[in-house]
Amino acid sequence: MSEPGCIFCAIVAGRAPCHRVHEDERTLTFMDLFPVGKGHLLVIPKQHATSLFEVDEETLLAVARNSRVLAHALREALGPDGIGVHQLNGSAAGQTVFHYHMHLIPRNHGDPLALHGRTQGEEAELAALAAQIAAARDRVAIRSV
Ligand code: AMP
Ligand code: ZN
Repeated sequence: MSEPGCIFCAIVAGRAPCHRVHEDERTLTFMDLFPVGKGHLLVIPKQHATSLFEVDEETLLAVARNSRVLAHALREALGPDGIGVHQLNGSAAGQTVFHYHMHLIPRNHGDPLALHGRTQGEEAELAALAAQIAAARDRVAIRSV
């Protein structure tokens, strides 16, 4: 279920902090600590699986469903030109946390196509964005999908 030493399992268990945006039975969505841009989210399964190759189908679908609702929420809250949905498997593909997760990255025309941020997000800004996106998520969940 939970993998010792896994930072995302620690977040799910409440042993490590996060700026939470949404939670349901199978998934947790929170702010990426090193955002590529404003509103960078991670949607993760609560149950540990290292990558796409390990995650079970129900969990995969739960992450996909939530990714779509959260993409609607990001569009509503921040109005970016587009939203990147990225998922990396294995260090060769750029994966750095080995607990399956989906990145949702708001993008504007002219933004560089980076997948990882270099600087840690400011706590107050991450908290404010999490609240703003969570409120938008509650609004769009009613009318989307
Ligand atoms: P990946 O390279 O696809 O495995 O992405 C891992 C992501 O997790 C990166 O974008 C990191 O910035 C992010 N990350 C790592 N540790 C934390 C943490 N404690 N809280 C939130 N995001 C994290
Ligand atoms: Zn884990």
